[in-house]
Amino acid sequence: MFKKILIANRGEIALRILRACKELGIATVAVHSTADADAMHVRLADESVCIGPPPARESYLNVPSLLAACEITGADAVHPGYGFLAENARFAEILKDHNIHFIGPKAEHIRIMGDKIEAKKTAQRLGIPVVPGSDGGITSDEEAQRVAAEIGFPVLVKAAAGGGGRGMKVAMTADDLSQALSTARSEAKAAFGDDAVYLEKYLAKPRHIEVQVLGDGRGHAIHLGERDCSLQRRHQKVWEEAPSPVITPAQRAEIGETVAKAMRDMNYLGVGTVEFLYEDGNFYFIEMNTRIQVEHPVTEMVTGIDLINEQIRVAAGEPLNLRQEDVVFEGHAIECRVNAEHPTTFRPSPGRITHYHVPGGLGIRVDSNAYQGYSIPPHYDSLVGKLIVHGKTRDECLMRLRRALDEFVVDGIDTTLPLFRTLVRTKAIAEGQYDIHWLEHFLAEHPEKKAG
Ligand code: ADP
Repeated sequence: MFKKILIANRGEIALRILRACKELGIATVAVHSTADADAMHVRLADESVCIGPPPARESYLNVPSLLAACEITGADAVHPGYGFLAENARFAEILKDHNIHFIGPKAEHIRIMGDKIEAKKTAQRLGIPVVPGSDGGITSDEEAQRVAAEIGFPVLVKAAAGGGGRGMKVAMTADDLSQALSTARSEAKAAFGDDAVYLEKYLAKPRHIEVQVLGDGRGHAIHLGERDCSLQRRHQKVWEEAPSPVITPAQRAEIGETVAKAMRDMNYLGVGTVEFLYEDGNFYFIEMNTRIQVEHPVTEMVTGIDLINEQIRVAAGEPLNLRQEDVVFEGHAIECRVNAEHPTTFRPSPGRITHYHVPGGLGIRVDSNAYQGYSIPPHYDSLVGKLIVHGKTRDECLMRLRRALDEFVVDGIDTTLPLFRTLVRTKAIAEGQYDIHWLEHFLAEHPEKKAG
């Protein structure tokens, strides 16, 4: 097992990783930019190292600084969390060259899944159902028109290097296609330095359903069920739940086994998420994330399995002791991502939290690095914390969530808490009837309701 883990991240996930390390008896090193000197994970870590000024590229993305921090502290492993360097294959290789373990998948798997065209080809080869579309990259308008005519409009142009919904454009008809292609290409070039794009059938009313996997890199892999992340704003997840309100146990077992088998065939190591769009009873692969995800706690709440603990143990070369039959799903869990944003304009609202009170009681979990007096810096994402609620049934979970949201106090800054207080009382949500476009429509139709 590792002796000392350097946590190459910040915010709530740095704290989450630190907690897992403490429970495993592993020493921790926090790294931080000058803007994060007061962060909770820095206070609680055994050691901390300042790695640079506030801009992420000079601190959390600064590989030489991170290597120096490992060297100074003698850390033998690095946990990248999510975002920043978590899906950077080169970083994983550089660490390996320095005899430091990267707590994540093999570099080759990060690389394949980081290129969405390669990822889709690999998924298809491994027997995972994919969205109909081009076989690879699209190189000309003529090719795009031909593929679009085959799969039928509307179509979606997507960036091979995509992430965060950038470089994605819908073409409703043949007339829009050339414009969509050039816009997606230039957006992709600007965001990722790579203008490769591909074409996919645009699904009109799908749900976003993703399967959590865990593998030991030696041919053993299991699934931990699905998460439904259909409530999105600008392709960003807002609310996640497990199990999905529309998936039956038989469907879960089937798609779960399809994905677990693919992971066994790849010798996948660590945690990963295979994301699907789900429409009319069919699953369509869109991408795989080769890291721990923001929404992992909902899976932990319904399975009782500590995903970060498992992730660390398999990265250290321990076998995966869990068999598929050991994974038992109990009850229902929902996560709300509480952001420091205005609840109607979604304008970021960094600043000092003057009063802070988190809800408690049975079935309530708050993963957050915030505290009273903490100042949310303007340089990073706006996540204040995640409220995760568990109940025996979905109805009990919603009831408990209503109560917990009413208890949650974050003063001094704007947060999206009022939006969640409205959502949790909305009929479509109570009935579990929403697709990936539902929230955008709701926000457009009910501007007055957004503030609750
Ligand atoms: P990114 O990596 O940029 O987040 P994804 O491929 O994961 O891109 O897609 C993000 C979101 O975009 C999905 O959750 C879904 O809302 C929407 N989306 C992606 N592909 C399609 C599609 N073929 N049809 C309809 N919506 C899609």
